[in-house]
Amino acid sequence: MSAIQFTSKMWDLIVVGGGLSGVAAAVSARRQGLDVLIVEKSGFLGGAIGTMLISPFMPYSTKVDGVRFDLSRGFFKELHDLLNATGGLSGNREDIHEEYVKLALDRLVVKEGVQTLFHAYLCGVQKEGDVLNAVMVATKAGVLTFKARYFIDATGDADLSVMAGCPYHLGRPDGLCQPMTLCFRIGNVDIPTFQKNRKDIQEKYKLFQQEGKIKNPRENILVFNTLVDGMLHFNTTRVVKHNPSDPFDVTKAEMIAREQMHEMYSFLKENCPGFENSRLLYSAGEIGVRESRMIDGEYLLTETDLRDCVKFADAIAAGNYDIDIHNPEGSGTSHYYFPDGEWYTIPYRALQPKNISNLLVAGRCISSTHEAQASYRIMPIVTTLGQAAGCAAAIAAKANVGVKEISVEELQKILIENGAFIGI
Ligand SMILES: Cc1cc2nc3c(=O)[nH]c(=O)nc-3n(C[C@H](O)[C@H](O)[C@H](O)COP(=O)(O)OP(=O)(O)OC[C@H]3O[C@@H](n4cnc5c(N)ncnc54)[C@H](O)[C@@H]3O)c2cc1C
Repeated sequence: MSAIQFTSKMWDLIVVGGGLSGVAAAVSARRQGLDVLIVEKSGFLGGAIGTMLISPFMPYSTKVDGVRFDLSRGFFKELHDLLNATGGLSGNREDIHEEYVKLALDRLVVKEGVQTLFHAYLCGVQKEGDVLNAVMVATKAGVLTFKARYFIDATGDADLSVMAGCPYHLGRPDGLCQPMTLCFRIGNVDIPTFQKNRKDIQEKYKLFQQEGKIKNPRENILVFNTLVDGMLHFNTTRVVKHNPSDPFDVTKAEMIAREQMHEMYSFLKENCPGFENSRLLYSAGEIGVRESRMIDGEYLLTETDLRDCVKFADAIAAGNYDIDIHNPEGSGTSHYYFPDGEWYTIPYRALQPKNISNLLVAGRCISSTHEAQASYRIMPIVTTLGQAAGCAAAIAAKANVGVKEISVEELQKILIENGAFIGI
C-alpha cells in the first residue's frame, strides 16, 4: 500500500503511541477483528523500555494463602512469556533487554496484522463536535492525515486527548510532577568488588553530596544489575521542577541530567572500588518521564481508592505496586506498601476522557491523581490497561456506539476470557 492508500483508508482504530499500553491495545483490538494502525514517534515498539531504557518489570503479584498470585495477567503474561522465550527477560528476575523486546514486538504486530507507522509524531487532530475524525502526524513525507472510527491515546503524556480538547491536569495540584530521570549504563565494572563495597559507596555518595561535590539531589545511587556481564544500569539522575510537557523545559532537563550522569560516572571511577577500569557506555535517547499530563476523565482515581482497595463495579484491571513517589521538589522517595493479599482495581471510567465519544486513554495518563498514578504507572499494569482499552474499542466498533455506551459486563467477560485478572 502507498502512503496515499494508507491516508485515504478509514481505519477501525488508530492507537497513538506504541509503548506497552499501545501495543496491548492494538493487538487486543486486532484480535477482536478491528483493522488497526499504530502511530509511533520513535523507530520501535515498547515505549519507555527502548526510548528511556526502563527496566525491570516492577512487582505485580501478591500472596494469597502464602502462594504467589499475579495481578497483571492476560496480554501482559503473554508478553512476559514471549520475552522469556526470546531472551528479552532474565530467567529468574524481571530484567529486560530492550533489543529483544523491540524485535519480539515487531514480530508480534506483523503476525497479528497490526499496521505500524514509525517516525510519525502526532501534531494535530480533526474533530466535529464530540467525534474525533482524524489524526495528523509529522513524517519525513510531510504531515499525513489518518482517519479512523475510534482512537486510543497511549502517548503517556495524553498528547492526543489534549489536542482533542479534553480536560486534563499536570501532576500534583501545584503542577509539579515526579522528577525526570535520564537512565544510563556503565560497563566493565568489577561487579563482585562493587557488590562488596556497595554500602560504603552509598555512604561516600552522601558525604560528597553534603560537601557540595555532588549536585544531583537524589538521596542515594539507584543502580540495577543487567543481563550483561560487567554492566550496571543507573536510574539515578534526578531533575525536579521541570515540566515534562514543555519542550523547552524538557530540553533543559536533558542537559541537566547529562551533567548529573557525568558527575556520577566521575565520582564512581575516581573514588569507588570496582569502577577503576569502568567505561561510561550510553544513556537513553530520551529523559525518562514518570508523570506528566493525566486526563480529567469520567472517574478520577485517587490515593484513597487505592489504599481502600476499592473494588469498582466497572473494574478492568488490578494492581498493588506501592505508591512510589520520587519527591517532585528534591531529595527523598516515599512509599506506601499494600498488605499481602490485597489489591486495588481500576475502573473503565478512568480510561474515558470527557468531551470525546470515540476516544479512550491507556497507560500512565489515565484519569487519576498524582498519588494514584505513582502506583499504577508501572509497565505490567499499564499493559493491562492497554488490553482493556483495545477490547473496549472493539466492542464499541462492533456495536457502532460511543466508547462510553458499551456493555461493561461484556468488556469484563472478554478480558477474563483472554486471561486478564480484573480484580473483582
Ligand atoms: C526513570 C523511570 C524509571 C521507571 N522504572 C520502572 C521500572 O523499573 N519498572 C516498571 O515497571 N516501570 C517503571 N517506570 C514506569 C514505566 O516505564 C512507564 O510508566 C510506562 O512505560 C508507561 O507506559 P505507557 O505505554 O503509558 O507509555 P510509554 O511507554 O512512554 O509509551 C508511549 C509511547 O508513545 C510514543 N509517543 C509519545 N508521544 C507521541 C506523539 N505525540 N506521537 C507519536 N507517538 C508518541 C512514545 O514514543 C512511546 O513509544 C519507570 C519510568 C521512568 C521514567
